[in-house]
Amino acid sequence: MAKSPPVFRFAPSPNGRLHLGHALSALTNARLAAAFGGRLLLRIEDIDLTRCRPEFEQGIHDDLAWLGLHFDGMARRQSEHFDDYRGALDRLDAMGLVYPCFCSRQDVKSAVRRREAETGEPWPRDPDGAPLYPGSCRGFSEEERHRRMAAGEPHLLRFAMDRALACAGADLSYAAFDAEGGERRVAVDPMRWGDVVLARKDTPTSYHLSVVVDDALQGISHVVRGRDLEAATDIHVVLQRLLGLPTPLYHFHPLLADETGQKLAKSRQSLGLADLRAQGVTPAEIRGQLGFT
Ligand code: GLU
Repeated sequence: MAKSPPVFRFAPSPNGRLHLGHALSALTNARLAAAFGGRLLLRIEDIDLTRCRPEFEQGIHDDLAWLGLHFDGMARRQSEHFDDYRGALDRLDAMGLVYPCFCSRQDVKSAVRRREAETGEPWPRDPDGAPLYPGSCRGFSEEERHRRMAAGEPHLLRFAMDRALACAGADLSYAAFDAEGGERRVAVDPMRWGDVVLARKDTPTSYHLSVVVDDALQGISHVVRGRDLEAATDIHVVLQRLLGLPTPLYHFHPLLADETGQKLAKSRQSLGLADLRAQGVTPAEIRGQLGFT
């Protein structure tokens, strides 16, 4: 049987305009897709309805077209697929791997401070530097959970990571690929993330859950994204095993830093592609600056 061509995707979030770091990611995807004879899809990751805006989404399309990038087929918009994420969440819940958490951010901070005071040791942090969830809501009985939910207490849903790992099977690794087509196995260590959030208070899903569901539904074989998402891939591999989804091959490109050495990010008002364009910078100059000549 003929092998189907590889499928790549670029998956920006419309919570700001695209900056040079996004251009690097999109161009790396396009270059690798072309080199591997693959297709390149676009996904709009707009599950955060409070921060995503239609004008930013339009800006993504404009900026990518300006850069000269073309995508196969229609973009998938995550906000149109909450039922898919709900279905995945229900399956994890049926396996007993999800529990409601009623803690506010402040509750988590206070619990961590208490633990640090008790032990005299710093509380463990996840790879992004956030304290691991201290487990305050894990021990609630079913009655207590039902009572709180029936009373309408706001809650999010967490992944019971230790139980998830016990169910996920032994082979928790993925293949990382390089531009020459070489592959190496990478072992994962998901416990360093603790009980991550699978559905938020304001959104019935999370980045981790939707990215895994969508990569499978879009038939993505090759994920190309920044090194800042390398550690999170550990969580994605666990979710893929539990949901019976294929694990794509992964490639993590280096991140761009600004003059101060900080990672470029929308939140830090990094110079957007639209600003550069308004200053008369051309797409060819952007490509040249990023090494895509
Ligand atoms: N939506 C994510 C971002 O804009 C990227 C997700 C991914 O590549 O997995 O940073």
